[in-house]
Amino acid sequence: MAYTLTCADTGAACPGSFTTDGRDELVEHVMLHAKHAHPELAGNPDMGAMVESLIKQV
Ligand SMILES: [Zn+2]
Repeated sequence: MAYTLTCADTGAACPGSFTTDGRDELVEHVMLHAKHAHPELAGNPDMGAMVESLIKQV
């Protein structure tokens, strides 16, 4: 069981895709990535909820 999030699902033109064994770990990776690659998203108060809604279990 793993968790995955594809950056393009946020609507961003970004090839980023993340897969981890832990849900918290995935959120951490995505947040770090967002800070560097998508500062406009990282500053959005809805970012956390958006990330949660885009996490898929594989
Ligand atoms: Zn991205």
